[in-house]
Amino acid sequence: MTIGVLALQGDFDAHRRRLEELGAQVVLVRKPDQLDQIDALIIPGGESGTFLKLLGEAGFEKLKQFVKMKPTFGTCAGAILLAAEVENPKQTGLGALNIRIRRNAYGRQIDSSIREGKFFADRCVGDNGAQGAEQHGSPLEMVFIRAPRIVDVGKNVEILATEGNDPVVVRQGKTMAATFHPELSEDTRVHRAFLDLVHNDLVEKGAG
Ligand code: GLN
Repeated sequence: MTIGVLALQGDFDAHRRRLEELGAQVVLVRKPDQLDQIDALIIPGGESGTFLKLLGEAGFEKLKQFVKMKPTFGTCAGAILLAAEVENPKQTGLGALNIRIRRNAYGRQIDSSIREGKFFADRCVGDNGAQGAEQHGSPLEMVFIRAPRIVDVGKNVEILATEGNDPVVVRQGKTMAATFHPELSEDTRVHRAFLDLVHNDLVEKGAG
């Protein structure tokens, strides 16, 4: 499977390395046309407002069509881009995830931090190593950098990980988002969960 990583800005290279480590073929996506060559996409962290500017109207529309068709995983700024509703300040979203997300939502002091949350592997598509105990979530290191907070989760959105009371990894259909940076931790489970989702999508398409 070929996974694109949107490489307009931000920490795309850490995603590339992680995906390659997990055996995926990676394309760094710099032009909208490259979206036609990939099975799935990761939108990395960075500045969501800057992404919007760099995409431009045509790029945004092309991306909007893509996320309707193919698995997409957004981390941090990428999660903001995928949301239906963005606040602080209000911003356009791709609407692939029925969530309301608040940019830079943690106070100055915990602006950036490494925290431990819970990952619910059993709620992911595929087995992803889920075994019994996973029902209560297993500990997962989470690197937050000027992170957004998911303040409202709508219908059909599944919560795959939490930190405190906050949902921090969510999935709706073939779209996944994390408010932190899983590519900066050694634990590969979040990326594996996404690759399982991509695999399932390809199998479904093949069967259909
Ligand atoms: N604060 C950034 C934004 O609002 C996101 C930060 C990040 O991606 N690490 O877009």
